[in-house]
Amino acid sequence: MKFLYSDTQDYVDPGYDFLNDRNSPGRERYWSDVYAHELMEPAPYDGLLVAMSAVRQAPGVAASKVRYSTREEQRLLRDGARKFLRYDDIRFKDAMLMGDCGAFAYANHPEPAYSPKEVLEFYIEAGFTHGVSPDHIIFDCDLSNPSENEVGAAVRRRYAVTLDNAEAFLKLTKREGMPFEPLGPVQGWSPNSMAEAAYRLERMGYGYLAIGGLVPLKVDAIKTVLSAIRARIHRNTKIHLLGFAKADSIHEFTDFGITSFDSTSPLIRAFKDEKANYYSEGSDGRLAYYTAIRIPQAIENSRLLQGIKRGIFSAEDLHVRERKALAELRSFDRGNSNVSVTLEAVMDYHQFLIRGDGTGGDLQDKALGKIASHIQRTLEHEPWKQCKCDVCRAIGVEVIIFRSSNRNKRRGFHNLGVYHRHLRKTLRETA
Ligand SMILES: [Zn+2]
Repeated sequence: MKFLYSDTQDYVDPGYDFLNDRNSPGRERYWSDVYAHELMEPAPYDGLLVAMSAVRQAPGVAASKVRYSTREEQRLLRDGARKFLRYDDIRFKDAMLMGDCGAFAYANHPEPAYSPKEVLEFYIEAGFTHGVSPDHIIFDCDLSNPSENEVGAAVRRRYAVTLDNAEAFLKLTKREGMPFEPLGPVQGWSPNSMAEAAYRLERMGYGYLAIGGLVPLKVDAIKTVLSAIRARIHRNTKIHLLGFAKADSIHEFTDFGITSFDSTSPLIRAFKDEKANYYSEGSDGRLAYYTAIRIPQAIENSRLLQGIKRGIFSAEDLHVRERKALAELRSFDRGNSNVSVTLEAVMDYHQFLIRGDGTGGDLQDKALGKIASHIQRTLEHEPWKQCKCDVCRAIGVEVIIFRSSNRNKRRGFHNLGVYHRHLRKTLRETA
């Protein structure tokens, strides 16, 4: 089972100065930066996925979803995605490079943002090894399996357009001599309708299916969907799970004959999750999670800035506490401080992240108590000291500090590495 990381232009400055929070001198975005597969050995994933909607602006695609500038799009198409992503090292020559349409970006639009022909040309120019036909997301999956007549016309339309596109896309791909392996996307409003779509895609000639619309579903619902699909298709037909947000439960999906899946969740959780920011291999063979220690730059944190503007606290005072929290944590890391003193220094600054939000004193105290207990656990276990990955070995305690994208993304890279190793181990054990 291959784990693909869905590229969102994630790179870091390899020469970042953590003590002074400055980029390396003369650093140029992208050109000086490194991707996770350049920073870490082994690379923390088996392949990359690039969404067309992240590269190209189209009708129905919100500008905020497009991550590439026009020049970057042009360079990606001229040089190919592998070179653009600097994924062209000999180590990666057999690694998958998949294109899809990023249907979430145009999910609110009545029709898909790109035509099969446009998508095909994009995939060929980008030089992908695999490409998913343009689909249209159906959001609600009803486990009671309503019939086609019981769902709305818009849902039926999305279902039909996804299948019609797939038929046209496969024909065009064949006409071009199959420059990449095409994937037929499965969308549906229920397990049975998805199984029916999978069956029809297989009949069209697809040997690799991409299952979409799983993002909002719980683990058990995904299993119901996969069981229904597997029952209708040949056991040699390959399955890819698109945007698989339940990646951490992968051990529950080893029986469904899944060839590949893509996810961003290990990286995203490094800075979006309330408390599970740092991945670790637990003693029970499951993933364990730690809370990163928030010491944001006062001058860059909107909540702190608001508090300063409203006169609730002073910039100078905050700055002193910020320096103190950082210094104490680094001293703790060197063995020169203890958990309680460090926790106190960290919380003495952290409290201002909560105090500025306008809720009552009791609620604030409760929230702070909870955060302190999470941070205490992180300090007691010092998980960054046990990790042997290239990120943790290079920057040590900085990886656990929730502060600036150079730390937060590195923590995300570390999470990808832990996750990838965990996946390989799980697959060996269940093989
Ligand atoms: Zn690590």
